Amino acid sequence: MSIEEQLIENAKQGKLLTHKCTSCGYLHLSTAYFCLKCGSKGFEDVLLEGTGTIATFTIITVAPEGFEKYTPYAFVVLQLDNTHLRISGFMEKIATPADLLVGTKAKIAGFDNRGIIIEKQ
Ligand SMILES: [Zn+2]
Repeated sequence: MSIEEQLIENAKQGKLLTHKCTSCGYLHLSTAYFCLKCGSKGFEDVLLEGTGTIATFTIITVAPEGFEKYTPYAFVVLQLDNTHLRISGFMEKIATPADLLVGTKAKIAGFDNRGIIIEKQ
């Protein structure tokens, strides 16, 4: 499977595949040739639970062509639990800022043609 296919399969199960530096332990979201922190070349795959808190979000009321049926929704940034990593995804049925607060517990809930789907825990 390609890296993208692995991301999709794991997201459908609520998980996130990351790449951990075997020298310093720094986690990377995508594959890299060198660790961004220490420059080492060794990595191992680590599967994380896709849970965290909402770091920030943008409400989409005017969707790009082809995505109108999903509106309103939010483009959200999820700060993953126990790591420095942040991922972005989409949360359905968010129409106003009152529908979602920064700091809300959320999790990866799937993957579709928009990308990673995130929902409240
Ligand atoms: Zn490292």
